[in-house]
Amino acid sequence: HLEDEVRQRTEELRQQAMRDPLTGLFNRRYLAETLPREIYRALREEKPLAVVMIDLDHFKRFNDQWGHEAGDAVLIGVAAALLDGLRVSDIGCRYGGEELLVVMPGADAEEAIRRISTIAEQSRMVGARVMGRELDSITFSAGVATVPDHGNNAEMLIRAADRALYMAKETGRDRIVVAHLPGAAE
Ligand code: GH3
Ligand code: MG
Ligand code: MG
Repeated sequence: HLEDEVRQRTEELRQQAMRDPLTGLFNRRYLAETLPREIYRALREEKPLAVVMIDLDHFKRFNDQWGHEAGDAVLIGVAAALLDGLRVSDIGCRYGGEELLVVMPGADAEEAIRRISTIAEQSRMVGARVMGRELDSITFSAGVATVPDHGNNAEMLIRAADRALYMAKETGRDRIVVAHLPGAAE
C-alpha cells in the first residue's frame, strides 16, 4: 500500500518531468536527452531519421482575435493531432510556445512530409471548431532535416530544420520545406 503509493507517485513525477503540462507532448528536457541517442542509433544502424520543426502560423493574430484561451485550445488540439498521427517510436515535443518539434526515427524526408501533411490536415479541422465556436482554421509551417543529409548531431539538425521552417514562412506559410543540402546552391 504505502509502497504502491510511493511507486505510483514516483512514476507520476517522472512523467511530469518529461512532459509539457498544457499539451501532453514531451518537453525540451526530454528531447535533449533522447535526440542525441536517436541520432547515434540512426547513424550506427545506417537508417534515416527526420527532425521536423513546426510553428503555428499567425498565432499571435489568432490569439488577438479569438482570445488566449481559444489559442490554448488550438495548441492542445494540434498536439492531439500530432500524438494521434505519430508512430510510437516518434518523439513529439513542445519546443517553445507554439513551436513543436518531432523526431521520426526511420523516416526519410519524403516519409516525414507525408506524415506531417496528414497532421496538418487534421490541425486545420481542429482550429475550425474550438470551444463550440467556428473559428478561423489554423495552419502551420514546418521545416524538415534528416540524418545523415543535414548533419550528424542534434544541434546541426535542429538548426537545419529551423532554417527550412524559416523558408516555409518566407515563401507563404502553410507548407513543409526540406532543408537545403549543406553546400548546395540557394
Ligand atoms: P508566424 O506565422 O510568423 O509564426 O507568426 P506568429 O504570430 O505565430 O509568430 P510570433 O512569434 O510573432 O507569435 C507567436 C505567438 O504565439 C505569440 C504568443 O502569444 C503565442 N503563444 C505562444 N505560446 C502560447 C500558448 O501557450 N498559448 C497561447 N494561447 N498562445 C501562445
Ligand atoms: Mg514561433
Ligand atoms: Mg508562429
